[in-house]
Amino acid sequence: MYCSNCGEKVQEGAAFCAHCGNSLKKESNVNSTNNAPVMVPSVPGHGTATASMVLGILAIIAGVITESVNKIV
Ligand SMILES: [Zn+2]
Repeated sequence: MYCSNCGEKVQEGAAFCAHCGNSLKKESNVNSTNNAPVMVPSVPGHGTATASMVLGILAIIAGVITESVNKIV
């Protein structure tokens, strides 16, 4: 068999590649933990409030920048 990571030939049934140390065991429990989607729980209204807050901060920053540019010019 060949390593899926580096492509080197490795011993049949080896748990790890002797060349790069890549894990060769295809166990489902490894995939189940990796495939678990890290989803932020969506709370109705929370996203909108955060978006408006970010827009407000951006507006403040833009206003400060515009103000400072006007002072310079
Ligand atoms: Zn390898």
